[in-house]
Amino acid sequence: MLQDENQKEKDPHILNEQEHKPVHLQDQINCLEVKVSEQEKLLKEQGEQLLKLNSQLSAFNQEVRMVNQLKAQMDVFETNLTVEKEASIKKIENLTQELNELRAIVSLNSACGSDIDYAYEAVTAKEEPKTDCTKSDIMLCPICLLGFSDMHSLELHVNNCLDKAID
Ligand SMILES: [Zn+2]
Repeated sequence: MLQDENQKEKDPHILNEQEHKPVHLQDQINCLEVKVSEQEKLLKEQGEQLLKLNSQLSAFNQEVRMVNQLKAQMDVFETNLTVEKEASIKKIENLTQELNELRAIVSLNSACGSDIDYAYEAVTAKEEPKTDCTKSDIMLCPICLLGFSDMHSLELHVNNCLDKAID
């Protein structure tokens, strides 16, 4: 066998060698065809991967747009909340001030012996509570002996008191 092949190489005119050549080319062609087919398969796979990546990228872009929209909405909500919060704080401040005024008047009235009518009047007129109220400033209602620190309040009260007494 080995001898036989050596003989062929030594003599290129042997017919067997000429037959062998086209077979060798065919092998090369077959081999190249396999390689081309493999490359085509690879290219197809890469194309599919590229399509997949493109679709993922467009989904991602859509998510980014949604996130940006949500962020814009959040900013609007945040601004509204800040405005509402400031309004609430202002309201609480006003209510606290009114409450403190009422408390001051109630304590003033219990000290000076006035009544709720006077307290309400003081609040609506936004008078400063009189803390220097002393016995000498106080005028008494002749009917019920409640004390008042100013003439106007006393007059109003006495009128009411008279009405009640008549009823
Ligand atoms: Zn009275």
